[in-house]
This record gives sequence, C-alpha cells and structure tokens, in this order.
Amino acid sequence: MNVLLIGPPGAGKGTQGERLAQRLGLAHIAAGDLLREEVRAATAVGREAKAYIDRGDLVPDAVILDLVLPRVVAAAADSGYLLDGFPRSVPQAQEARSLANRAGASPDVVLYLDVPRDELVRRILARAAEQGRSDDNPATVRNRLAIFDEVTKPLIEYYRGRGLLRVIDADRDPDAVTGEILSALGVAQ
Ligand code: ADP
Repeated sequence: MNVLLIGPPGAGKGTQGERLAQRLGLAHIAAGDLLREEVRAATAVGREAKAYIDRGDLVPDAVILDLVLPRVVAAAADSGYLLDGFPRSVPQAQEARSLANRAGASPDVVLYLDVPRDELVRRILARAAEQGRSDDNPATVRNRLAIFDEVTKPLIEYYRGRGLLRVIDADRDPDAVTGEILSALGVAQ
C-alpha cells in the first residue's frame, strides 16, 4: 500500500507517519526530515535548502523531487510507502505523477489531517520549546501557515477529484487519530 499524508504544519504528520509506517510495514519517507538531514550534513543540497526552511518557504521543486522520488520508487517496489510532507503543491503532485505512474508507485490513498488553526499554533509553539527547530519561531510559523493555505491546500481538491482523499479529524489525542486512520484504511485494530 502507498499512502500520502498531507496537512498543515503541526497537524501531526510526523507522529502519525511514524506510527502508521510501523503498524502497516511501510517505509516512512518524511520530506522535512530528509531536508533536515541534508542541512545537518552540510551537503550542497542542505546548504541551498537551509535558507528556505528557516524562512518557512518551500524549497525549490527540483531539490525536493530529487530527494524524495527515488525513495518513493524504491519503497513502492518493496513493501510500499508512507510519505509525509510531499507533495506540498499541485505542481509538485503533477511533476511526480507521471514518474510514479510509470514506476507503479502511485498513491492508493491520501490522508488529510485536519486541525483548527489555533490548535496548530499551540502545538508548534509547544514543539518549539521541546525540540528547538530553527523554523518553529513565530515569524516563520506565520509564513509556513500562509504557504499552506495558498500553495498546499489546493491539493485537497486535487486529490478529492481523483477519488483518493480521506479527511481525518486530527484535533484529538494521537491514539484516537491513529485509530481513525486505521479504520479509514480498513485495517483491523
Ligand atoms: P511542517 O509540516 O511542520 O512544516 P516539515 O518537516 O514537513 O514540517 O517541513 C519543514 C520545511 O521543509 C518546510 O517549511 C519547507 O521549507 C521544507 N519542505 C518540506 N517538504 C517540502 C516540499 N515537499 N517542498 C518544498 N519544501 C519542503
């Protein structure tokens, strides 16, 4: 099974992605984690990406496509993938679509984690205190949420139109969210 996890910053994509991948035996591919690894290792990609990440902007499509797509294709040929943080725009989805089709790596289902704005801000600020991520400061968070509204949200209609979308009420404790996702996927709990 190939699963996409989409949602605004703070919706719980990382937490749910990790749990679901483990529960379903899928490779967990997290676009943000891959980028942060490149930044930590100070690779050419990491050095280019850092400024975008710190501003809360999306990194250029070519950068993220090169990082994510080979892993998606490899995982799809193996046990399947749980992909979080990609695509983040309709152009990214369109770019990935033909390659994924050819490689037999298309998503079977797209989960949208739905959380009200005030709860997102609360979670991100709590995470900032715990983890100290450089992009969890108020100005960058405002930009990330604005970019989500403008650039990422149109993916909801894009995937609804393809009949792949499941909207998950993610304004609940993590166990309840995992439970709702598993039942949406028709997996016994
Ligand atoms: P969050 O969902 O909380 O914003 P992520 O770890 O998914 O956290 O992403 C962190 C940052 O990494 C984003 O703000 C953006 O700069 C970059 N990024 C992640 N995924 C993508 C993507 N698909 N396209 C472009 N940039 C991305």
